[in-house]
Amino acid sequence: MSAAKTLDAPVPPGGTIGILGGGQLGRMLAQAAAKLGLKSRVFCDNPKSPAFQVCDAHTIGKFEDLGAIAAFARQCDVVTLEFENIPAETIEHIADLVPVNPGARALRITQDRVDEKNFLRDAGLKTAPYFSVTSDDYFESALLMCGEPSIFKTRRMGYDGKGQAKVASGNELAEAYARFGSAPGILEGFVDFAFEASVIAARGHDGSFAAYDSPENAHENHILRRSTVPGRLTAKQNEDAKQIAKKIGDALGYVGVFAVELFAMMDGALLVNEIAPRVHNSGHWTLEACAVSQFEQHIRAVAGWPLGDPSRHADAVMENIIGEEAAHWADYACRPGALHLYGKPEIRAGRKMGHFTQLAPLTRR
Ligand code: AMP
Repeated sequence: MSAAKTLDAPVPPGGTIGILGGGQLGRMLAQAAAKLGLKSRVFCDNPKSPAFQVCDAHTIGKFEDLGAIAAFARQCDVVTLEFENIPAETIEHIADLVPVNPGARALRITQDRVDEKNFLRDAGLKTAPYFSVTSDDYFESALLMCGEPSIFKTRRMGYDGKGQAKVASGNELAEAYARFGSAPGILEGFVDFAFEASVIAARGHDGSFAAYDSPENAHENHILRRSTVPGRLTAKQNEDAKQIAKKIGDALGYVGVFAVELFAMMDGALLVNEIAPRVHNSGHWTLEACAVSQFEQHIRAVAGWPLGDPSRHADAVMENIIGEEAAHWADYACRPGALHLYGKPEIRAGRKMGHFTQLAPLTRR
């Protein structure tokens, strides 16, 4: 395999950013690229991808179709992604044609919950206790290590609570393991957190680093409902969250924006839940509350531009518009705040259809 291609000079205005994945994150990345005078090409398997409506060109294809992916990459100056479940082999396949960030290593680690937890432990960061479960031989040791209740998760392809079950006994663990197809999994101790938070950060090609203030995040049915900044995090927790992100970004040699999902404990400690190697739903408020949004920051990072100022000029509350709520778009349009609708052709239960951000004068940094 030849060496991965690196970026020798910033992609100038007029250059093309390739985006793998065509959901709302790809859509907002394409809009951010346009703001900087860059072009975007989007690759996705869904012909009705929200990002196709706003990019310069698109390709419909499967992420496993290496020929199609390579042809796409040849038309781009750099390639990035908006969706972490793209096969790492796909990224490796095009890495010698065009600079691709985040790269295959970051993707491999974050696609596998056990590799991710081992990486976090090796970086000296705190997580829930965990145990890799590869067969029923491990049930007893896993429960001893993690306690009851615990959460059993599949190692790969989980998101928004899919492939997860809370288990309070050996029988429940056996049942969850069987239900998820006896696939390799991870048992995690159930964390009695005070609240959930996240940090959105960026790392440039030159190792430069910028992090946004951490929002507090509320979930409903495992889907993000609301991000509030500043939330209940103390100034120290806000700083600690940025330091956690810096450690992760440096240890991964990461380029681009990533998110770290955190559990804030009663004693002030922050535990890492997981890393998302992409822009993140809990960072959408940066579109209105910061001069440079997470989407522009990501485009800047992967295109080799200087990172922008992540400081906040307002307090913000971002609410997702989920499923049927999108039918009330006219009501949202009457409210003071910023309405974003993603152009998805059909409303489906639990589907993220848009979001709404309300700003208030800055109370504290
Ligand atoms: P995840 O897919 O790992 O981000 O998990 C989705 C949601 O499930 C998290 O945002 C938490 O609300 C909850 N959760 C996940 N892991 C744990 C855990 N070990 N303890 C308590 N809650 C958890």
